[in-house]
Amino acid sequence: MGPSRRRYYLGIDIGATWVKMGIVGHRGFLRAKEEFDTREIRSPRQFLSRTQETIEGLLKASSIERAAVGGTGVGAPGWVDYSNGIVRELTNIPKWHDVPLADQLTRATGLQTFVDNDANVMAVGELIHGAGRGHVNFICLTLGTGVGGAIIINGKIYRGARGLAGEIGHMVLDHNGPRCACGANGCLERYVGNRFIVANAVRRLEEGRGARRRSTILKLANHDVNAITPKLLAEAAAQGDAIAREVWRETGQYIGTALAVLVNLLNPECFIIGGGVAKAGHVLFDPIRKTLARLAMNKLGRVTPVREAQLGEDAGIVGAATFARTCTETG
Ligand SMILES: [Zn+2]
Repeated sequence: MGPSRRRYYLGIDIGATWVKMGIVGHRGFLRAKEEFDTREIRSPRQFLSRTQETIEGLLKASSIERAAVGGTGVGAPGWVDYSNGIVRELTNIPKWHDVPLADQLTRATGLQTFVDNDANVMAVGELIHGAGRGHVNFICLTLGTGVGGAIIINGKIYRGARGLAGEIGHMVLDHNGPRCACGANGCLERYVGNRFIVANAVRRLEEGRGARRRSTILKLANHDVNAITPKLLAEAAAQGDAIAREVWRETGQYIGTALAVLVNLLNPECFIIGGGVAKAGHVLFDPIRKTLARLAMNKLGRVTPVREAQLGEDAGIVGAATFARTCTETG
């Protein structure tokens, strides 16, 4: 069967909490999907067998022949050596060091497998099927447990000398700031990663006693601070809660500051922001745009659009599958 008959690609999105997999058609539509809890996976070896099993299940459930699948793409949240198919290090998932995942998965499944950083594959998805269509130079950010970044230059992922390029989440905003998982201090992720947004809200609730009683955040959380999530904070902000709005304003300012640095450095056509936290919408995007407009040189922040990613929930899967397609097509 020639390449043109291989109409489907498999996408695997490894997240800190969920591993999501799916079969994606040429236009970026998801044909079948499956997911499992990342924390159930104790080692890369176990990941391999679980993945193999899941792929078999997906093919069966969708009645798609293996021969119609052109390959598999994997997005992993950390440092990936793309050209050798090796996962070097995953910041938020322990026990992954120098795993030759592309080779292992290719052998285990009989499908040619390509591995890259999760934000990189998401950017390829947005480039071909989403908010990046029509652009050749842009920067993607994914906001979740971690903060991922990807740089597209001339329609291609810019990886740098050792494949680490685009780690925007670890841009140092304050060298005296709080310690980050990467070992540095004051990284962007240390302020706007999921749990740090929540911690910011909890701290503000503890500081302001009167405000605490009135806060919609606690009402929505049934007075359990452990139930506070970015999603809940977005809801509280939408209902006009002062603390929630302040948390999002500060979160947006940190992100906007990073984007201003990137405008001065790379002068992209636009920014595309995705991931769960981006669903907060305008309470987050307004302060991002405002800060970017204020800090970037020559007022360029005002003419550099900040867009929401378009591929939504399944951006990771669709991105990984689309990435595999571009890898096989370019040889
Ligand atoms: Zn860091």
